[in-house]
Amino acid sequence: MNEKELLDNVPTGLFIGGEWRDSSDGSTIDVEDPATGATLTSVASATVDDGVAALDAAVGAQHAWAATAPRERAEILRSAFELITERADDFALLMTLEMGKPVAQSKGEVTYGAEFFRWFSEEVVRIAGRWATSPDGNTRLMTMKQPVGPVLMITPWNFPLAMGTRKIGPALAAGCTMVVKPASQTPLTMLALADLLTEVGVPPGVLNVVSTANTSKVMGRLIGDERLRKLTFTGSTPIGRQLVKQSADQLLRVSMELGGNAPFLVFADADLDAAVDGAMVAKMRNMGEACTAANRFLVHESVADEFATRFAERMAAEKVGRGTEDGITVGPLIDGTQRDKVAELVEDATGRGASVVTGGSATGDKGYFFEPTVLTDVSPDADLFREEIFGPVAPITTFSDDEKAVQMANDTEYGLVAYAFTTDLGRSIRVSEGLEFGMVGINQGIVSNPAAPFGGVKHSGFGREGGPEGIEEYLSIKYVGIAP
Ligand code: NAP
Repeated sequence: MNEKELLDNVPTGLFIGGEWRDSSDGSTIDVEDPATGATLTSVASATVDDGVAALDAAVGAQHAWAATAPRERAEILRSAFELITERADDFALLMTLEMGKPVAQSKGEVTYGAEFFRWFSEEVVRIAGRWATSPDGNTRLMTMKQPVGPVLMITPWNFPLAMGTRKIGPALAAGCTMVVKPASQTPLTMLALADLLTEVGVPPGVLNVVSTANTSKVMGRLIGDERLRKLTFTGSTPIGRQLVKQSADQLLRVSMELGGNAPFLVFADADLDAAVDGAMVAKMRNMGEACTAANRFLVHESVADEFATRFAERMAAEKVGRGTEDGITVGPLIDGTQRDKVAELVEDATGRGASVVTGGSATGDKGYFFEPTVLTDVSPDADLFREEIFGPVAPITTFSDDEKAVQMANDTEYGLVAYAFTTDLGRSIRVSEGLEFGMVGINQGIVSNPAAPFGGVKHSGFGREGGPEGIEEYLSIKYVGIAP
């Protein structure tokens, strides 16, 4: 479909109990194209009552969904994988329209996002418990795994499909029903996904989607509802922290995928071609708007100049523009606030002595574009070493020995992912062990993989998405003691 056909066809209502409906007070949210600032369409904005109706539907469907045969859930997930793959071009274009990333990157996200359905379709039939004899021989111990119950899922705007499928896939697999709240800036992809999941047989009430402009009110009401059993959130650390506090009243099971401040270490023995390739992916995927984005480049002093020169050449060759156009490799940032924040971080760094090797400014006469930027001689006190940049800006600083490099890498409240480039096997092991992060990429600038447990430590949160671990987040263990 072309842009117009896609926007004419995408659902814009609330999806509750298998039906599309308007908000009960008729309110809507405008969805903007960040490349132009133009309104693409409007979607229904849920009231508190609508939110409760969505939870009612999820609660009503829970028992029957949990009781479906694992193979039936597996086949629905597998069909979802296949249909998303078939419609990859439409999903990719829709995502680019509302979020900005170049279509080629959106296609990458569609592949990645769909894979969670394939992966978890294969895990459903392997949910198992265990059987043991108690040490004194008097009891048999049986464990079984059961769905945790209705789940509230809150997702961010930066990966509108994959941040949803990473939660929806394992929840459907485990037998949980859910209410999904997509980010207000990018609801369309999730609404299109809800439509597709209905088409492949997800029964009414199992998946409910409510966009809302009254986010804290509607979410607060649901988090405080005793029928909800789990909250899973992907987003910023400050909001995550607040949600953990709110979830304490109902003692919810909680998973938190929060912010990052990824170090990218280049050791003296690194293959610099591989390091520059890795740096481009780790920095420029999603225009730097990723929790996994390399935020601090820590480079051994003996290779720092060469790395900076080569990296800056590649950054300068990127093509900035609307993500729907051919050849564009860098789209707009999500909004004016984000673009201005990136500009302020660059200004702060240069004010503290950093040099701009390439880029350095906002660009374009409309939309929210920022030039791919490389900064050298960045002071460790610069704000962009402490905060998530969430933009195409690569600050470089140097180190002289391994121990100091790992110390610098760990000097952050965050602990999501770190990258290290070295050709020495022993060093890669020592460094991986020393890094206080949930994930480490060795000689690669991307770690996301549906078969791996994605997640952080420290203020990057807790819980894992993907891998065999991913489904456990949606299961409770019951132990039954049997006297033979
Ligand atoms: P955000 O502002 O925290 O928003 C994330 C989601 O939370 C949105 O759906 C938002 O809704 C909702 N929200 C905001 N305030 C809320 C409240 N008081 N109660 C309940 N929900 C609330 O984050 P963002 O700017 O969208 O996303 C970027 C952040 O996500 C970055 O920090 C990034 O590192 C992190 N992230 C982490 C991972 C990971 O796996 N660790 C992956 C991707 C992104 P509205 O849109 O309606 O405000």
